[in-house]
Amino acid sequence: MTRAATMDSARGGQAERGGARPVVLVVEDEAALATMLRYNLEKQGYHVEEAVDGQEALTRIAEAPPDLVLLDWMLPTVSGLEVCRQIRRRPATRDLPVIMVTARAEDQDAVRGLNTGADDYITKPFNIEALLARVRALLRRASSMPAKGKLVFHDITMDLAAHRVWRNERPLHLGPTEFRLLEFLMQHPRRVFSREELLDAVWGKDIHVEPRTVDVHIRRLRKSINGEGELDVVRTVRAAGYALDTEVV
Ligand code: CA
Repeated sequence: MTRAATMDSARGGQAERGGARPVVLVVEDEAALATMLRYNLEKQGYHVEEAVDGQEALTRIAEAPPDLVLLDWMLPTVSGLEVCRQIRRRPATRDLPVIMVTARAEDQDAVRGLNTGADDYITKPFNIEALLARVRALLRRASSMPAKGKLVFHDITMDLAAHRVWRNERPLHLGPTEFRLLEFLMQHPRRVFSREELLDAVWGKDIHVEPRTVDVHIRRLRKSINGEGELDVVRTVRAAGYALDTEVV
């Protein structure tokens, strides 16, 4: 699978968000600075999203990972440092490019010395051209990396090359049929498939299997992926089939 296809299904709403334009998430609590960054980034053709504190940033990143994060060091609720740590800890966002933005008053040695996991950092007040150059360089580096064959839906990450699946950071153990079923559903999030369509896609057209077999494997899949207190992401649509969805209906 191509990187583009993978990223599309990972993002779901990419078309509405930025189309082919790279999505940059600006995490900044100073409104004037956020506005200046948005203006300059949009002028360069990026699609800009904003978060005003660390918690909002983590929520947005979990819902739909951007292509790059500009992350202020000093933030309300959750610090930039902690946001960066959490980005690195989650399999779905481990490779997400992060540029840390720090104020001169903050201890530069500490920033440099700490293993924040940021790919780059820049000191306030910064030259906007210098910042844009770093954004460009990092996005170029990220897009030249080989396709990872990774699918992401909500808090589920599937690594196709390694044949492994996680929910949050918990490894899931799926049977081969459940793995293929989840892979297919993750490639087409929120789309409803009938039992017959799932049989064709997952089992193959030539194999004769009772449609009820699909129910059995959906049940096993649910059991494997839904932990205690976790949202059931497999939606049963009466008289229609199944979909991978976060909206409980
Ligand atoms: Ca700040």
